[in-house]
Amino acid sequence: MSVATRPQFVFDNSYVRELHGLYEPWQAATATSPRLLALNEALAHELGLDVEALQAPDGVAVLVGNATPEGASPVAQAYAGHQFGGFSPRLGDGRALLVGEVLDAHGRRRDLHLKGSGRTPFSRGGDGKAAVGPMLREYVIGEAMHALGIPTTRALAVVATGDLIERETMLPGAVLARIASSHLRVGTFQYAATHDDHDTLVRRLADHAIARHHPRALDAGNPYLALFEHVVEAQASLVARWMLVGFIHGVMNTDNMTISGETIDYGPCAFMDVFDPDTVFSSIDHGGRYAYGNQPVIAQWNLARLAETLLPLFDAERDAAIAAATDVLRSFTARYQAHWTAGMRAKLGLIGDARSAATAEQDDGADLLIDDLLTLLRAQAVDFTSFFRALSTSLRGDDAPLRTLVAEPAALDGWSARWRARLSAAGRRPQATAAVMDRVNPIYIPRNHLVEAALVAATDGDMAPFRQLLDVLAQPFDERPGLDAYAAPAPPSAARYRTFCGT
Ligand code: AMP
Ligand code: MG
Repeated sequence: MSVATRPQFVFDNSYVRELHGLYEPWQAATATSPRLLALNEALAHELGLDVEALQAPDGVAVLVGNATPEGASPVAQAYAGHQFGGFSPRLGDGRALLVGEVLDAHGRRRDLHLKGSGRTPFSRGGDGKAAVGPMLREYVIGEAMHALGIPTTRALAVVATGDLIERETMLPGAVLARIASSHLRVGTFQYAATHDDHDTLVRRLADHAIARHHPRALDAGNPYLALFEHVVEAQASLVARWMLVGFIHGVMNTDNMTISGETIDYGPCAFMDVFDPDTVFSSIDHGGRYAYGNQPVIAQWNLARLAETLLPLFDAERDAAIAAATDVLRSFTARYQAHWTAGMRAKLGLIGDARSAATAEQDDGADLLIDDLLTLLRAQAVDFTSFFRALSTSLRGDDAPLRTLVAEPAALDGWSARWRARLSAAGRRPQATAAVMDRVNPIYIPRNHLVEAALVAATDGDMAPFRQLLDVLAQPFDERPGLDAYAAPAPPSAARYRTFCGT
């Protein structure tokens, strides 16, 4: 372990400074022969980092954990968590480190974090390592989410360590360098609440979270309740955005849910192909707890666990604290519905932009149209992503793609007529509406078979398919010639897709 001499990063480590008791100072394991597999140049620029310096051996040494940059203060963060509903009081970074907090060119604070960087005091039985495939998977799906406008942690780099790690077979090891607005999790609050006799640790953590993610809470009558409300809103919005693109996180344990509202910990996640709320990809999710259609309810369940840790801060009197928490928690449903409805209306060309703030005025006709569509998509086993692009194509006068997607095309006729009637009643012209729809309905998503093919190639040393896939996914809404294979659903012959935790 050496100290890098050239300071590229400007660090200000508020977590370490303010939150004693929630981390263990630690160093990364040494990688034998690091090799940079992927560097996120756009993100590096955003952070004000010198790309060439990062690509040089000194830079790669920092990205893999072989060197600690000046000003960094690496720690393994402590957290607890409900995993599939069962509480573990001590999880923590078992194979990861917070290197430090970087201030970017605009003074914004971002965590620089390594994943796959070796054993820590939180490793339990694990080896602290990660394989090339799952780390590249987090990179590509995170970038796809970012390009879709969905809040997410982002990969800065993946570096192969040169070491083999033991899984079902021996696999090449890697470290992911990740950037996040913080790594504060619901599980961080659960750990603080479990290991704190006098509420001082939870209070310090809540103050830290307010400063980082919701400084305006300080103006509220009850800043801690305002913080909770802010997290409820951020998660309602986030999960609605997942649902609107068919994203299934796969392991929504409380330790995998952020306070910032960013998507985190891409393990067994995947995008749904055929619309079916029961869709589960994760091989370990036997009960379907984290199925597509359950995600909003699970988010609210996780937020209830967050509220429990904050009760003493909401009100000294327990009943009053519970009443206040319950009110805010209940608001999740309406907030989620508002985001979802506004997003679905946008997908159907019925309002402006799914990514703009929710504007869900009462409109029973539109809502019924949405409900009926979902029933149809499920009954007709329609590919969720392709459907909305085929719909805009039909507005341009070509019905063929739509009719190929639907098992019994005639089943769509009634719905389609109602939808078109609404558009014309609102005075919306077909061509303009089609264009607006294409701004919110992606044509390119990280299709499971494409991701898998890119990762298999990368594990064998060929990075070209991975780079090409990243390139396609960087502009998910713009149809480009020659990319038909990236837009198509998986061939029906493909085996039922299964994902595994990123270990
Ligand atoms: P995850 O399912 O990846 O979110 O991880 C859940 C918990 O298991 C976290 O505390 C991780 O740090 C820990 N963990 C996962 N994989 C490993 C590993 N290979 N070695 C040590 N700890 C791990
Ligand atoms: Mg995790």
